[in-house]
Amino acid sequence: MASVLVVEDDAVIRAALIEVLSGHGHAVRTAHQGFEGLREVTRHPPDIVVLDLGLPDLDGLDVLRMIRGISRVPVLVATARDDETEIIRLLNAGADDYLVKPFSGGQLAARLAAVLRRSAPADVRAAGGSDLRVADLHIDPAARTARLAGRELPLTRREFDLLAYLAAHADQVISRQRILTEVWRQPYLEEQTVDVHLSALRRKMGEKARQPRYLHTVRGIGIKLVGSP
Ligand code: CA
Repeated sequence: MASVLVVEDDAVIRAALIEVLSGHGHAVRTAHQGFEGLREVTRHPPDIVVLDLGLPDLDGLDVLRMIRGISRVPVLVATARDDETEIIRLLNAGADDYLVKPFSGGQLAARLAAVLRRSAPADVRAAGGSDLRVADLHIDPAARTARLAGRELPLTRREFDLLAYLAAHADQVISRQRILTEVWRQPYLEEQTVDVHLSALRRKMGEKARQPRYLHTVRGIGIKLVGSP
């Protein structure tokens, strides 16, 4: 499951996108205009943005450039123009992929999944198909599942990425800034964002903040996933 921000001014298309995306288990937020979309990216950082290029208030390409100014969130652009100049312009402006309108729900879901796979944090991607094992913790990056002592943890996409990133750097203290840059791809977010997700992870793993087994906070420095107690 991913959190998807759909920026689309056409109500009919928006409704169709919401239906397809929620049907694939994604959590969808929407923005009707460009500025609203930019505000959403900073207020509720999504895992991926589906951006319509023809917006009433701003040129979609400018919205894309502005998103790139503040975030590395993956962006899938929906364009009405299917010519090479347009596609090159989009990719150069920082689009991760594009869809030419009209497109099917199946194509949208498949492209979205592909972009999300490619955009997993580099270290997790580098682990490739091979699993990460840290003591009782077992992470399968390909299947995107995490098990603790054999029990699958019900993680959101972001929680999974955070856990996988920390596991890939087990026994190293990682700063919140680095986590925001590598996992969130938004170095300008509040560091508190990391702590909110860390608490959720701890809760799901049955950890206590005061006496954690795996997820340790190192005061004033960062967070460390501890391999052996
Ligand atoms: Ca439009």
